[in-house]
Amino acid sequence: MKKITLVLFFFPLILLSQEIVKTSNYFDELTVEEKRIIVNKGTEKAGTGIYNNHFNEGTYICKACNNPLFKSNSKFKSDCGWPAFDDAIKGSISRYADFSFGIKRIEICCSNCNGHLGHVFEGERFTEKNIRHCVNSLSIKFINNKQ
Ligand SMILES: [Zn+2]
Repeated sequence: MKKITLVLFFFPLILLSQEIVKTSNYFDELTVEEKRIIVNKGTEKAGTGIYNNHFNEGTYICKACNNPLFKSNSKFKSDCGWPAFDDAIKGSISRYADFSFGIKRIEICCSNCNGHLGHVFEGERFTEKNIRHCVNSLSIKFINNKQ
């Protein structure tokens, strides 16, 4: 009896979660290269991203779902080859342990669509906040505050 009750309880939840996956089309409009980075957790070649040396005033949002992620005042010049931010907009980012390539790193994803952004590193002393969100330019989109 108990097993049946459990199945009946979870069955609607399973249906619901499948529905969410089916209706989420955040990644449909992305280019092949954007999908390689955002969906398949790839990394763009160092120094090639359009926001690597971009320091205008505004907000960087998720390329896939437009979730606001970083303010331009948290962007700093790290010379690492990718856009670097020492802070993120509260609640905008999810962190996951990543053991690929035999190295332990912390992957960062958009908290809304779960698209891959890059990795986060702490303790490098680049800025006072001592944190570097290392982000692919292809994962983000810049919005001018005046628009
Ligand atoms: Zn997103």
